[in-house]
Amino acid sequence: MHKMWCGAVASAEPVWHVLATDESVTLCGLEKREECEEQVQTDKLCYRCMTTLQTEMAPEA
Ligand SMILES: [Zn+2]
Repeated sequence: MHKMWCGAVASAEPVWHVLATDESVTLCGLEKREECEEQVQTDKLCYRCMTTLQTEMAPEA
């Protein structure tokens, strides 16, 4: 089960990333930093993380 991390980048809106197994990086290659403010509310998901997650979960060919 992958954990989610709401990552805010200075130049962009916060989005939900998916953490890799070791939980120090996201599936899209970002280094996990501090948690978002609790007030931050977004339902946006990181497209690259989602794509990677789908690839990981897909049955192996
Ligand atoms: Zn991501």
